Amino acid sequence: MADEMTMQKESNFLSRMPIWQKILIGMIAGMVVGVVMGPQAEVLKPLGTLFINCIKMLIVPLVFCSLVVGVTSMQDTKKMGRVGIKALVLYLGTTAIAISIGLGMATIFKPGVGIDMVAAATATGAKEAPTLVQTLLNMIPNNPIQALAAGNILQIIVFAIGLGVSLNLVGEKSKPAVALFESLAEAMYKLTELVMKLAPIGVFGLMAWVAGKYGIEILMPLMKVIAVVYIGCIIQVVVFYSGLIKVVGRLSPVQYLKGLVNPAIVAFTTTSSSGTLPATMRSAREDLGVSKGISSFVLPLGATINMDGTALYQGVCALFIAQAFGVDLAFSDYLLIIMTSTLASIGTAGVPGAGLIMLSLVLTTVGLPMEGLAIVAGIDRILDMARTSVNVCGDMMVSVLVAKSEKELDESVYNSEEKATTES
Ligand code: ASP
Repeated sequence: MADEMTMQKESNFLSRMPIWQKILIGMIAGMVVGVVMGPQAEVLKPLGTLFINCIKMLIVPLVFCSLVVGVTSMQDTKKMGRVGIKALVLYLGTTAIAISIGLGMATIFKPGVGIDMVAAATATGAKEAPTLVQTLLNMIPNNPIQALAAGNILQIIVFAIGLGVSLNLVGEKSKPAVALFESLAEAMYKLTELVMKLAPIGVFGLMAWVAGKYGIEILMPLMKVIAVVYIGCIIQVVVFYSGLIKVVGRLSPVQYLKGLVNPAIVAFTTTSSSGTLPATMRSAREDLGVSKGISSFVLPLGATINMDGTALYQGVCALFIAQAFGVDLAFSDYLLIIMTSTLASIGTAGVPGAGLIMLSLVLTTVGLPMEGLAIVAGIDRILDMARTSVNVCGDMMVSVLVAKSEKELDESVYNSEEKATTES
């Protein structure tokens, strides 16, 4: 009897514990277990893979249905154009600032000085990056079903916007279709909520695997570049994004930071901002009070084109490689890095490791040695964790500012102490 009562108390305690605490516990426990078990912690990776696969399962139907609903909820095409332009301007502007922060940090702390690149370098092939025209043309799907099946988010966005606008234009006759998409979107939000319950276990498995794989010793010589990227990422979120929230949005930065916890941890451990999208959309709506219309329009776009963390990382890594190889950069090279990193980060897919491939584009454009990629590749997962979190936090920030300016931010939800997704 007493046993039963204790068990019940424990299960009550667990079910009352906010999900972000469970995720955090999963992350720390994973780290400890990974360090203790070493490379053998790989046996725990399937727990993480299970979670990632569940999230991946959500992405295409969630983005598609919610984007169609997002567009149909904005009957006014002028408003849609306005929201789109605001989001794009903020996305591009914050990306350029992110690279500048990265360049500034790497100039001050010089992470590459003292690294023996030549000894460590092994050839890493650079991938050809598509041209801007190609990227733009590729956004239009030849076959939308194929785009959905392949999970090509940019193509899905284009088709969903086209379909949504057409449904608006059709008027009365489109009602059944709109209702269908609305109910499918609701079901996808529910499924997201269910999948997020797996997050603590998934995060535990992923963290154990990463900590076990890298260990502490391997990281030591490259600690400085890791530290510079991490500090830059923290500045970007805590100073810059919070500052914009306060100054431009006239909102509490603390509430913004609180609302970030869930998606930021998911991004940190999965290293995929597309993969984190379901969690991002849920927190933006339920913790920060961004309307469904704005969140389902602005966030999928952000997860695809807005990669501030990736841009910051590219800035740091370009300078890190230049310093390690003793290459002097002129002012025009810095401008070139800002321009190419902005474009490269737009073209970066929100999947693990994509930023490293795009880094080769920046290195080629600036004329830096491609061998530098080999060094960065060794620690890329660790850098990816930080940059992906920033990518997601940037999208959330833009969705809040756009929603606020369109009077579509529910400030009672934004300011509420009880964050909806922190309750389990
Ligand atoms: N992993 C990053 C993301 O999904 C992209 C990158 O590799 O920089 O946001």
